[in-house]
Amino acid sequence: MEKKVVVITNSVTVDELARALMIPVTDLIGGLFKNGIMATINQRLDFETVSIMIDELGLDVELKKKETALVGGGHHRVPSEHAVRRPPIVAVMGHVDHGKTTLLDTLLNKKTADGEAGGITQHIAAYQVNHDGRLITFLDTPGHSAFQALRQHSAALTDIVVLVVAADDGVKPQTIEAIEFARSANAKIIVAINKIDKPEADVSRVMAELSEHNLQPEEWGGNTITVAVSAKQNEGLDKLLDMILLTADIDELKADEDGPAEGLVIESHMEVGKGAVVNLLVTSGTLFTGEFLVAGKVYGKVRVMLDFKGSPKGKATPATPVKVTGFKELPNFGDYFKEATDEKEARKTAAAIGIEMQNELATTNTTGLDLLRKMSDSDNKKRLNIVVKADVQGSVTSIVDNLKMIDTKGLVDIQIVGSGVGNVSENDVRVAVGGDTIIYGFSVELPASIKRIAARDNVSVRIFNVIYELLDDVKKEIESLLPPEVIETEMGELAVRGVFRTSRSSVIAGGEVLKGKIASGYKLRVVRKHKVIAEAEVDKVQREKIEVSEAVAGEMCGLSIKTEHKINLEVGDRLELFIREVKPQKL
Ligand code: GDP
Repeated sequence: MEKKVVVITNSVTVDELARALMIPVTDLIGGLFKNGIMATINQRLDFETVSIMIDELGLDVELKKKETALVGGGHHRVPSEHAVRRPPIVAVMGHVDHGKTTLLDTLLNKKTADGEAGGITQHIAAYQVNHDGRLITFLDTPGHSAFQALRQHSAALTDIVVLVVAADDGVKPQTIEAIEFARSANAKIIVAINKIDKPEADVSRVMAELSEHNLQPEEWGGNTITVAVSAKQNEGLDKLLDMILLTADIDELKADEDGPAEGLVIESHMEVGKGAVVNLLVTSGTLFTGEFLVAGKVYGKVRVMLDFKGSPKGKATPATPVKVTGFKELPNFGDYFKEATDEKEARKTAAAIGIEMQNELATTNTTGLDLLRKMSDSDNKKRLNIVVKADVQGSVTSIVDNLKMIDTKGLVDIQIVGSGVGNVSENDVRVAVGGDTIIYGFSVELPASIKRIAARDNVSVRIFNVIYELLDDVKKEIESLLPPEVIETEMGELAVRGVFRTSRSSVIAGGEVLKGKIASGYKLRVVRKHKVIAEAEVDKVQREKIEVSEAVAGEMCGLSIKTEHKINLEVGDRLELFIREVKPQKL
């Protein structure tokens, strides 16, 4: 039989999808529910979610994506036979203080030693290092926002993750997070065991810990490349670069240099006198100055193009990061960009994407990545993502430390996805968007323009001037994520002596109270041969045919029971009476 093919555009409603798959809509909603998505029939699902659901439901369906416009399209372009070797794209990741920044700095100073490294400005999202006449592109993933930002936008870009592990500290939570990221992004991992100059350095211990996370070092017969380095003393870094190139060669990383340029926006900001300054990473084709580009819903003409050091550049080939000016407005971090033939086409495409984006925004925030994250949270732990902004570094540190100390009873994972000094910025909102993230500001301002953006993107921003009030708010937020506490108190026991009438929704019976008491409103468990066979609720209690509020141990009574399903109560059954309170959990 031929495989059924279903074609969808960027998103599809639950109802439309069920019809296309020819399955009852309730099955689909049930499947989504199992994966942590409460969907209504009008909810929109994105392509990734749909493909995961098709797998989950075990349907023999081939899913095809209809490429309408540029939104989210094209990141995984398959190189043609004319493709040529391109630089590998590398992300340096690891636990805080393990030496990522030092490693990047040393590499840059060493490898771009033409005196310009010092002139590198902020807002650089990617660097290139020249090793043995070949280029390696490093994505900069500053601060805590790294994982979140990368996860949402750059996963498709990263070929290799250099996992920095301090030899005196070993594998730590963010190390594990980086390993998970690399695996989910399908990137190769090369481990840089750093700080080997320190007397406390213990490389074998790190190797043993890596093995526990399925990264068996080559030295120990596995296939994970590890390189012992000292980022500070510039030791082992040449070997690390050799290994990066070797890995790139094994993977035969290629891209087409001919044809229209496309790639990803990796950073963007406004600069006085220059307007929108946008960092792009070309992934296919070649970008020249003077060409028109569409990125998300904005477009522009490349006026000035600079390399990462700030030198003018006339063209950019795949895996090259460049900084361009000439966009009419700011595109977003993570937007896909593509060359247009002329201004008219650029304008038209940008407008079409704008409409498409609006439609998507109006519907749902459930992305495939969110779904994957939910699915990978095997123990169903809830997450609370937080961005912290404060007036001074001391406050940032103190708030972050305090947040880490909140005891969430192991039920909620607090993730600080971004932190820093200064007012809440557009970039903070970008980091927060789509990830159930709250931005907390302490003694800072929320500029009106940012407030609007946050409102538009449904991001909650909360400003406090007293630290404990901020922490209390976080605790309330955590409490709202905790499952309610269910408290059951045993009230009594009754032996069934007679069953008088049974219907679907009630039973009338008589019995003897053995222990405690019975009263209307109590819940009850029907126990037969030591097994609980049903649960129901006491409706009314009677003694000598008169309704009473309760009957106590030693008394005979009549009772009516409210049931949801028919219960075939039998003489000899025992009823355990209890009350159940459901209370929101407190920390
Ligand atoms: P990041 O948080 O991972 O970016 O870590 P940093 O690069 O900021 O490094 C944290 C601290 O470790 C700094 O004080 C660095 O000077 C120190 N550090 C980094 N690499 C080395 C190293 O190879 N040897 C020693 N002894 N210290 C290092």
